[in-house]
Order: sequence, then structure tokens, then C-alpha cells
Amino acid sequence: MSTAIALDGPAGAGKSTIARRAAKALGFIYVDTGAMYRTIGLAASETGIEPVDSPELDALLSEITIDLTFNDNGEQVVLLNGRDVSGLIRTPEASMTASRISAVPSVRAFLLGLQRDMAKAHDVIMDGRDIGTVVLPDAQVKIFLTASPEARAGRRYKELIEKGMDVKFEDILQDVITRDFNDTHREIAPLKPAEDSVTVDTTELDFEQSVEAILNVIKERL
Ligand code: C5P
Repeated sequence: MSTAIALDGPAGAGKSTIARRAAKALGFIYVDTGAMYRTIGLAASETGIEPVDSPELDALLSEITIDLTFNDNGEQVVLLNGRDVSGLIRTPEASMTASRISAVPSVRAFLLGLQRDMAKAHDVIMDGRDIGTVVLPDAQVKIFLTASPEARAGRRYKELIEKGMDVKFEDILQDVITRDFNDTHREIAPLKPAEDSVTVDTTELDFEQSVEAILNVIKERL
């Protein structure tokens, strides 16, 4: 039987960078479920479909394929119908579209199947919002990774500025707050810690300290 580590938490808590590093240390596959929602959001935007429940969106889901792969540098490459969309899904617009489209039941059902299949086939660290509560309720380790909205917005701001994007801190903070609200208030699979999860707060931790904290929880539980 494969081993699963569920890593949930709000936007910008550092889940993906921390999970990637922890997966490498453990020899597990890292699955970034947020990238999957972002990719569906992008597919909808590109075809002029609103990120809301509709027959058009359901038709789109039946036509697309999403693959998560890695390049030679170990960076995640996200493929939409075979096309590399790794950069396109990281803009602030793509974040908001992902947040809206993730509330659509058929989108969640579509990705649930893909995510469970990946966890069946490999030892995984899967990051998202509902991994410990809905996708992998039997995961051997469940971690809820969080940090204050200001700390999370500050990290995202730095990341985007380093990529050369023209963004304002206030706008990023507002996006973080809006996405937190959307994620915690949606009807299906809202963001909340699983009852049997361990909460790790990284507000005061740097990257290395956060990785260490996560690896310690994993080692204690496995
Ligand atoms: O983690 P990331 O910020 O890339 O996720 C993009 C969006 O996808 C989030 O705002 C969230 O609404 C949604 N999401 C989700 N369930 C997951 C992962 C992401 O609803 N398991």
C-alpha cells in the first residue's frame, strides 16, 4: 500500500515549496492540486467560459487532459492538453479564476478522481485545501500549514516581484483575504483542518525552519 501525506492550508502558506522539498527528502511524488484547479481555470478563460457551474464548463472538462510532470531541474511542469502552462497559471488573474472555479461541483469531482488515482499509484505528498478532509481521509499524516494573511501576502508579493511582475502589496493582501474567504465559505470541501491533523504555523519561521517543522511531524507520525 502506498503512503500519503496530506498538506492543507490557506493560499500562500508556502505549501508548495515546502512540500516539494519534503517530497525530495522522503523520495515521494509531490502533487500540487492547486495547479490542477489553476489549469482548469486557464482552460476556461482561454475558451471564454465563465468559472461557474454550467453545461459549457462540463463539456470542457470532458475534453481536457491535465498532467503534472517535472523537468530536469526538478521543477514542476503542468501540461494542459500536452501544452506547458506552468507560467500562465501563476498570474494573479489565474489565482482568482482558480479560486472561483474550485467552487464548482463538477470541477471538484473531476479532480478528485485524478488525485486519488495518483495517491494509489505513488507515495505522495499532496498539497491543497481538502486533501486530509475529503480527497485522502485515510492519509497516514495530515498537516495543516498556516501563517498570518500579512506574512502570506508578503511572501507572494516577493515571489511575483522577483519574477518581474508589476504588482502592489495591498492588492496581493486583498487577494489573499478574498481567496481565504472563498476557500473557507464554499459549500463543498471548504478549507478547514482535518480533525486528526497537526497544525504548523509558519508566520515566524523561515523556509528552512518550516521544512524542518514539517519533516519532524512526518517522522513522528510515520
Ligand atoms: O494552492 P493554490 O493557491 O495554487 O490554489 C489555487 C486555488 O485552487 C485556491 O484558491 C483554491 O481555491 C483552489 N484549491 C482548492 N482545493 C485544493 C487546491 C486548491 O479548492 N485542493
